[in-house]
Amino acid sequence: MQRRRARTQYCKGELIEREDFSEDLAAFKFRVDKQLPFIPGQYATIGFEVDGKIVQRPYSIVSSPHEPFMEVFVELVPEGATTPLFWALELGDTVFIRERLVGKFVLDTESGMTNHVMAGTVTGAAPYISIARTQKIEQEQGKTSPHQILSIVGASRSWELGYYMEELNELAAQEEWFTFVPTVSRPWEDPEWAGESGRAEDVIRKYGDQLGYDHTNAVVYACGHPQMIENAKAIWARARFPEERIKEEKFFVIKE
Ligand SMILES: Cc1cc2nc3c(=O)[nH]c(=O)nc-3n(C[C@H](O)[C@H](O)[C@H](O)COP(=O)(O)OP(=O)(O)OC[C@H]3O[C@@H](n4cnc5c(N)ncnc54)[C@H](O)[C@@H]3O)c2cc1C
Repeated sequence: MQRRRARTQYCKGELIEREDFSEDLAAFKFRVDKQLPFIPGQYATIGFEVDGKIVQRPYSIVSSPHEPFMEVFVELVPEGATTPLFWALELGDTVFIRERLVGKFVLDTESGMTNHVMAGTVTGAAPYISIARTQKIEQEQGKTSPHQILSIVGASRSWELGYYMEELNELAAQEEWFTFVPTVSRPWEDPEWAGESGRAEDVIRKYGDQLGYDHTNAVVYACGHPQMIENAKAIWARARFPEERIKEEKFFVIKE
């Protein structure tokens, strides 16, 4: 007997806020016409109607399930099929959002480890922001024992992280469970920058070691640019992290 494929269900998201951090990086907030459950770290499939068909791509959700909007952090790929359509969005415009929010790149609460090292490249910070926002909100709601999170986010220049830079710095100043290390790989183009320099993978050992997070007590995560992920995975493998405690979310594939 032939199995019928379930029809993809979409709901609508209305753009309620947009902030451009640079020419090719922006945060978008949508009011979704239906409550869609998800676990922080998961992604939404967002689509646009083009010639009667829906062109869609996955986007990690920045917002927490406790927030009344869906936020994503997007990098423009000028020759891409979808991101130029994001850039054309104005307030009040709508997108299609698949009702099933999915993904396995979520906080590991099964290994028993309570230390988490989360490395990302620019938009690759998205799942970590969702995880951190959620932990903060749930702590305020009276949940105890937050997990320890070290978030290391690389960008070419500091302004590419936009308002997330301030949000994550503030969170780190307020919460003992959160450590934030933004790092800039082109400090010569960002002369005011006084923070860490180098790529995310250049500093993951340094900060993990400083906090005592190692293969005996931590889970490690890498998200965003595939090259960073490969480099970080190799570093963590040499530091004896077992494969099952190295999590990854690649945003795209590098074409040969
Ligand atoms: C699970 C998951 C979560 C994702 N979350 C995010 C997110 O939070 N924010 C975000 O901006 N993107 C995210 N992406 C990537 C996103 O789904 C799209 O691939 C990206 O936005 C490009 O879409 P496009 O249609 O404009 O380009 P496409 O037409 O799909 O791609 C054109 C070409 O550009 C390459 N490409 C795609 N993205 C990039 C990039 N960033 N830099 C360089 N080359 C690229 C593709 O490999 C392809 O060869 C995620 C991908 C996955 C798999």
